[in-house]
Amino acid sequence: MQMVDLAVIGAGPAGMTAATMAAGAGLSVVVLDEQPAPGGQIYRAVASGGTARADILGKDYVEGAVLVQGLLASTARHERGAVVWDIAPLDEGFEITFSQESGPSRVAARRLVLATGALERPIPVPGWTLPGVMTAGAGQILLKASGVVAGSAVLAGSGPLLYLLAIQMSRAGAPPLAIVETQSWRDQLRATPRVLGALRGWRTLFKGFGLLAELRGHAIRRITGARNLAIIGTGRAEGLQFTTKGRTQQISCDTVLLHQGVVPNTQASRALGLEHDWHHGQRAFVPRTDIWGESTHRGIFVIGDGAGIAGAKAAVPAGELAALQIAHQAGALDKATRDKKAGAPRKRLEAERSLRPFLEAAYPVAAQVLAPADTTMVCRCEEVTAGEVRKWAALGCKGPNQTKAFGRVGMGPCQGRYCGLTVTEILARSHDMPHSAVGSYRIRMPLKPVTLGELALLEPTDAAE
Ligand SMILES: Cc1cc2nc3c(=O)[nH]c(=O)nc-3n(C[C@H](O)[C@H](O)[C@H](O)COP(=O)(O)OP(=O)(O)OC[C@H]3O[C@@H](n4cnc5c(N)ncnc54)[C@H](O)[C@@H]3O)c2cc1C
Repeated sequence: MQMVDLAVIGAGPAGMTAATMAAGAGLSVVVLDEQPAPGGQIYRAVASGGTARADILGKDYVEGAVLVQGLLASTARHERGAVVWDIAPLDEGFEITFSQESGPSRVAARRLVLATGALERPIPVPGWTLPGVMTAGAGQILLKASGVVAGSAVLAGSGPLLYLLAIQMSRAGAPPLAIVETQSWRDQLRATPRVLGALRGWRTLFKGFGLLAELRGHAIRRITGARNLAIIGTGRAEGLQFTTKGRTQQISCDTVLLHQGVVPNTQASRALGLEHDWHHGQRAFVPRTDIWGESTHRGIFVIGDGAGIAGAKAAVPAGELAALQIAHQAGALDKATRDKKAGAPRKRLEAERSLRPFLEAAYPVAAQVLAPADTTMVCRCEEVTAGEVRKWAALGCKGPNQTKAFGRVGMGPCQGRYCGLTVTEILARSHDMPHSAVGSYRIRMPLKPVTLGELALLEPTDAAE
């Protein structure tokens, strides 16, 4: 099996930057990403038709093409459509197994960068499993990858992605009927003292104000302080119901696009047994890393949104820092040069991170999402309700892994991606325990569903035996 100096999982801004720089330092690099082209979530399809929609998707999106070109022009090998489903430690390095259309393959690497990005937070509200309900990110993926805009749509939830998507839909000629937001003016007021701390990231902050100004120009109906969101409809979404100022309202629509911010995708970092901490502001677990992005396991780096949500502009310097340290560890860069080159990216990373406390306070996760009603489905795959999880908690079930034994929650094809955080929140409240003590699902390989046919095609190796 081929051994490379570095394997990077994820070709978003973090992974592309780390791979391009490490390759530039003379390291042999392979980049694995399940998407058909590099770009990650934000720059999805930017080099394969996305720029044709530049006027709709905006300048920030098009800027991603530079990163994609840098990666493709580098000596790093980019494996397209490569779904990574197994990572096994070797005596020296790691063995990574992935599947492409052509079948499964393995690669061994001395060092590993996990740049697997973010997932949208699960939004368990009544009716969220009905056809016609998607996340806002999914609505945006339709636009970026296929040029399709959801018609007759209401955007609901909290977070700047709702504004960006509403603007992009408007530019595409199909503005949403309304944006129904769960944060209130009280949250915005509470966030105000944090604006000072966010000023180090003033460029991104001002872009955010620009976004709000453009949104006002599109004259989209905005409702804030909404509570008790519920999608109504028989067999499919027919409207959104919510309470505001003590009154219950309904907006008829065909599509509801939900959003409550994004959370780190920690499936791989958890399966590898890295240490994680509960991040109260982001209400999610984040892998513990040092200033270079190296995790508690030497040789495994976690960068970008997967290491804690900080956005695409932070993902780039995080990729640079990881590449500098990896090149240094590999003997391709001396310590003095590493430290000299690290100054600028470190500053940019800190500036972007400084915005987060403000955003977390201004757009908090809705109370109904953190503590769903008993009848609301929390595990979509196994059809388990919040009430059932609470019932198990009352019977003595203390942790997410035990809930699997009680009722298979988290054991479906999504492998806990869309219920894990909700189950942790429910158990923490039920037992009045800190989230860090409740913990999260133990994730095991394979990271993604894999067929028996794919397994049969693989030659056994030392790590697999
Ligand atoms: C749905 C969605 C839409 C977003 N839209 C915007 C936006 O419009 N504007 C904005 O500023 N920010 C947006 N964000 C946030 C933004 O994407 C991130 O801040 C930024 O992309 C982080 O970069 P990254 O390199 O850490 O990860 P990402 O860009 O998310 O890249 C991670 C990559 O890893 C790949 N990957 C993950 N697991 C595996 C695996 N097992 N095998 C193979 N590949 C894998 C993914 O396919 C993805 O390509 C969005 C986030 C989400 C979740």
